[in-house]
Amino acid sequence: GISNNFPIIGALVLGGSKIFPVFQLIYASLAAIQVQRTSLYRIVKYLELKEANFDLNKRFISKFDNDITFKDVNFKYTKNGKDVIKNISFTVKKGEKIGLVGTTGSGKSTLLDLFMGLNKPSKGNIFIDGHDINDKKNISKLKSWHQSISHVPQKMYFTNATIAENIAFGVPKKEINMERIHTVSGLAKISEFIESSPLGYDSLIGERGVNLSGGQLQRIAIARALYRSPKVLILDEITSALDTQTEKEVLSSIQTLDKSITIIVIAHRKSTLKNCDKIIQLEDGQIQNTFLKSEFKEYEINN
Ligand code: ATP
Ligand code: MG
Repeated sequence: GISNNFPIIGALVLGGSKIFPVFQLIYASLAAIQVQRTSLYRIVKYLELKEANFDLNKRFISKFDNDITFKDVNFKYTKNGKDVIKNISFTVKKGEKIGLVGTTGSGKSTLLDLFMGLNKPSKGNIFIDGHDINDKKNISKLKSWHQSISHVPQKMYFTNATIAENIAFGVPKKEINMERIHTVSGLAKISEFIESSPLGYDSLIGERGVNLSGGQLQRIAIARALYRSPKVLILDEITSALDTQTEKEVLSSIQTLDKSITIIVIAHRKSTLKNCDKIIQLEDGQIQNTFLKSEFKEYEINN
């Protein structure tokens, strides 16, 4: 009879209402696993890669002896997009200090990515000592080119590790050359600050560098670039968060580096460009003007 079974029915209804949300949770979790599976597979593929076979602690062997030449280079990010770099030709000689200027969005960072061989031109060629670096048969040249460059990008990346580890980025902790860390921190004008904090080079810099100011992080990024004793140094807006006095000090210590280092700086401030041999002015993906050291007055008047 119904009256006898009423408690059982009640128990089932109550149990069902308790179990239902849990089932919903299981379903949602299964869906999430399904969605994340692709990302997981991709990451695992990278984790299983063999370690890169070059020693980050080693000084670079230069495979760059004379010059790098852009010949009628065009570049677009997407197949049907518009050209971001248009028909650019220029030559940078070994040891030259080049300033790259231009309004925001004019293609400076894009040009540097091409320069570093991180992107390929959609038209035209880039030659290092006469060898087309994007030619498949020159792949070993491209690799050694990559290894001779240090790049301080506009958007820097830091790990939540110690200052020393962030400077010797990628070098295992016990292989870090502390003597070189001291030297490059001095060159980047950050050693005084680091050494005055209680933990010194062992201070943690926090997730993405939250424990430090923008200017301090910029100088750590410069120290990182110098740690690898590059043959080519690329500085993208590195002094934007520094006051003019610190900027002056950082730049003048960069001047004391080996004269054979080729340097390219992107800058908005004229003071940053003072020590360049040449200024290239980019506008809307094209070279609008090139100023030699003797013509800097002209550049200053026009800008
Ligand atoms: P800024 O002085 O602001 O750093 P920039 O001169 O370095 O500017 P780029 O970053 O080279 O300028 O950008 C040039 C153009 O290319 C811009 O119009 C930008 O929108 C576009 N662009 C940059 N990166 C990408 C990308 N990954 N995909 C598509 N378009 C891009
Ligand atoms: Mg840029």
